[in-house]
Amino acid sequence: MSNSKHEQSTQKMLINQGNRIVALKKQIVYYKEITETIREPFIILDSDLNVVTANLAFYRKFKVSKSATESKRIYELGNNQWDAPELRILLENILPTHRILNSYAVTHNFPKLGLKTILLNARQVDSKQLILLAMEDVTDQWKLKIDSAEMTKNLIEQRDKLQGLNDAKDEFISLASHQLRTPATAVKQYVDMLQMGYAGPLTKKQLTMLGVASKNNERQLEIIEDLLRVAKVDAGKVYLNKSSCNVVLEIEKAIAGQAVLFKTRNQTVEFDKPKAKMMASIDPKLMLMVLENVLDNAGKYSRVGQRVIINIHQDSVNTIITIQDYGVGINKADMPKLFRKFSRIDNPLTDSVKGTGLGLYWAKKILDLHEGTISVTSKKNVGSEFQISTPTSTRVMVGAVGFEPTTNQL
Ligand code: ADP
Repeated sequence: MSNSKHEQSTQKMLINQGNRIVALKKQIVYYKEITETIREPFIILDSDLNVVTANLAFYRKFKVSKSATESKRIYELGNNQWDAPELRILLENILPTHRILNSYAVTHNFPKLGLKTILLNARQVDSKQLILLAMEDVTDQWKLKIDSAEMTKNLIEQRDKLQGLNDAKDEFISLASHQLRTPATAVKQYVDMLQMGYAGPLTKKQLTMLGVASKNNERQLEIIEDLLRVAKVDAGKVYLNKSSCNVVLEIEKAIAGQAVLFKTRNQTVEFDKPKAKMMASIDPKLMLMVLENVLDNAGKYSRVGQRVIINIHQDSVNTIITIQDYGVGINKADMPKLFRKFSRIDNPLTDSVKGTGLGLYWAKKILDLHEGTISVTSKKNVGSEFQISTPTSTRVMVGAVGFEPTTNQL
């Protein structure tokens, strides 16, 4: 190659290089303008990992000056505070092969800032000549995440513990009630035998005493039965035996079953009996017990001589029974306690009438199993109205493919 030709090619090379430098400088100005608008710390590095420029947020966040930052190798910044092994791996090993890195977390103890978790987003631009590096301090968010995860874990542990204790309590009640039932039933048999004269004739005084013993023994057995019934439903061992039943008949059965009791209190039950049958898919035995329970309460918590009114109406979706009384009523504040376990609410009659506070709790569970509801509206010293609502027919899943008739057993 002649001298002039060699000179020409060197000149061309220099021009190209100069053009590239001008273009790169332009790019840097362009990036710089953009980075200044970013609120998170942002830094631009050259391919040797020297800082070309950084934005204001970077200087503020990491408490370094512009002069102590620009042209320095990133690891040297702020007394080598960026010299983290993870950052070296990221910039020297991972980035060159991946070119783009999103949300790479680095936890590092910065001498001036303390332990921080920084989320790094990096990308190589301009034929790998520049690296744009955005930093987001996520220390607080991560701490919050860890704290809330720990809190959730603790809460779950506590809930499981409480559940365990509750299960143990339910099991104890169930076991104790079973154990109590046998001797209480034996007492009943022997008291009955004595009253019937199996052990010879008794004096009037002895019979009166036996009468008291018998009443208390009956009460004892009632409590035990209530406890066992609730234990069974709590353990998920109550299964509905549903069939299509005339609910009107079940109401009549409940009224007949309580007739003597109502008569002794000179109370009346008015049932506006519909002419037509009202068929619904229910477990007749369990629904009858629910009706008896609510009707029994209506009489128990009403004074002598009062009326109780029962109504039923039905559409294709629900069958609704209302039992209304003119009794002592319930305070608004006590309403939420009504369907809880063992909740006896104080009223002028609670001392004279016996109860366990389990009846409505159990009734609600039975209606839950029917996918129905039990609710109440009441006014103190005016009266209460209990509403029992149960699906008229067994619900069919919306969107189910085809139609499969459901069996009676849940
Ligand atoms: P129990 O009658 O055995 O105490 P329940 O679960 O049947 O238990 O009822 C819980 C409480 O709700 C009762 O103690 C009573 O205070 C209140 N209650 C229930 N029915 C009525 C009613 N018809 N009128 C007023 N209070 C009622």
